[in-house]
Amino acid sequence: MTHDHIAALRAEVRGPVLLPGEDGWDDERSGFNTAVRHRPDAVVGARGADDVRAAVAFARARGLPVAVLGTGHGPSVAADHGVLITTRRMTALSVDPVTRTARLGAGVRMERVAAEAAPHGLAPLGGSAPFAGAVGYLLGGGLPVLGRTYGWGADRIRAIDVVTPDATARHITAESDPDLFWALRGARDNFGVVTGVECELIPLARLFGGGLFFDGGDPARARELLTAWQRWTETVPEEMNTSVAMVRLPDAPGLPEPVRGRYVVHIRIATPLEAAEGERLVAPLRALGPRLIDTLADLPWTRAGSIHGDPPTPMAWNGDTALLDGLAEAEAGAIVELGGPGAPVPSIVEIRLMGGALSRPGPVPSAVGHRSARYILTVLSRLGNGDAQAVAAAHRALIDALAPRTTGRFLTFMGFGENAAPDRVRTAYEPEDLARLARLKARFDPRDTFRLNHHIEPATGGTG
Ligand SMILES: Cc1cc2nc3c(=O)[nH]c(=O)nc-3n(C[C@H](O)[C@H](O)[C@H](O)COP(=O)(O)OP(=O)(O)OC[C@H]3O[C@@H](n4cnc5c(N)ncnc54)[C@H](O)[C@@H]3O)c2cc1C
Repeated sequence: MTHDHIAALRAEVRGPVLLPGEDGWDDERSGFNTAVRHRPDAVVGARGADDVRAAVAFARARGLPVAVLGTGHGPSVAADHGVLITTRRMTALSVDPVTRTARLGAGVRMERVAAEAAPHGLAPLGGSAPFAGAVGYLLGGGLPVLGRTYGWGADRIRAIDVVTPDATARHITAESDPDLFWALRGARDNFGVVTGVECELIPLARLFGGGLFFDGGDPARARELLTAWQRWTETVPEEMNTSVAMVRLPDAPGLPEPVRGRYVVHIRIATPLEAAEGERLVAPLRALGPRLIDTLADLPWTRAGSIHGDPPTPMAWNGDTALLDGLAEAEAGAIVELGGPGAPVPSIVEIRLMGGALSRPGPVPSAVGHRSARYILTVLSRLGNGDAQAVAAAHRALIDALAPRTTGRFLTFMGFGENAAPDRVRTAYEPEDLARLARLKARFDPRDTFRLNHHIEPATGGTG
């Protein structure tokens, strides 16, 4: 890349084109997970699809790989060369109450979609962290807070604007480009940079939800609560969405006094059912004993982010995940021993109940796999100085202990680095879907320009 090449690119795009060390460089290549430092040859801060197209053409002409950064909630590998395209400036958003759809640019966060849709009594199928990028979330599958009731976010995508690896901007639907439309929903930037999506909204203004916080500092009590929650999940209808987290909360002034600095078992509830019915369904959980806090209430959908209470501030962490076909007492014991209050490294373990609409195929098939899973476990730990190996070992011990019940892994919860190596990425897909993705990768990205990601390796044989 010569100075002239960069000057030509700068003349073509509206957004900034930054080289290492230039003003704004560090901000532009950083996202929510500060443990991953991208060190590309150049960053293009795209303002629209034309900028993305120019950046992909620029990289392609020089044989450079392309990586994408949205809000940085789910990096897979660090982009240590090539061209990094950031999407944060692509914030166009419109809601159509008649067709019950939203059109959103690649840089839009789900909380904005929720705010724009709410006056029409509509809601996007958002995940636990409304401040995460909506497009990265949806293309990765999009596991919503209300997933058991309404299914996967990716299944609600109606149209996609994408710049494919041949540097062509396309507007695609299930009808116009069935292969590409199938592959992007589940394998994301292996097939290009999505500049915008049109997705369905659901008629929903409120829900009943919140959290029940129990003291979980004693491992035996934590195990008892986990087992009781699991048994309860076998009794609930698919309108009930729930997860449990085991975590030591920080001793921070912003937190309510009863939970501050304490190890808690936090049971989360989210249901579109009327509050009275929600109250009735959670009665067995309330009977498990005294709660440190009980926040269950009728909520506007725009406050659904308070249910999990994911932290909004950037931090360094890594994590791992397993989709499970069941959760018996033996697994509950292993989870508490390896990820609970006495775990070898401080960890947050979260288990979500799957099933219901998540287990059914969407209206238009996609690459989002492992729909038969009954639970999904995720383990996360913050990274300090030099503890990455200890964290990886502790997470691996927990995930390995669950191997007999593991059906696969969910792409966007699998962490970064070794956790996102190709052998692990393969476990996110059904075998026949993986084979199809590899053939499509060879067809749409024969130069493997999009390889700094959860990488699908192109098939070496035929394509298509
Ligand atoms: C606190 C927290 C809570 C979460 N909760 C949920 C949840 O409830 N449900 C759920 O499903 N997920 C959840 N996630 C995962 C999250 O949805 C993914 O990490 C998602 O990728 C976030 O989008 P992003 O813009 O931050 O992606 P980034 O980290 O910026 O990018 C990650 C990858 O996404 C792909 N990508 C991003 N933008 C584009 C694009 N425009 N075109 C093509 N590919 C692109 C690329 O492969 C890129 O490498 C959570 C993550 C966090 C940190």
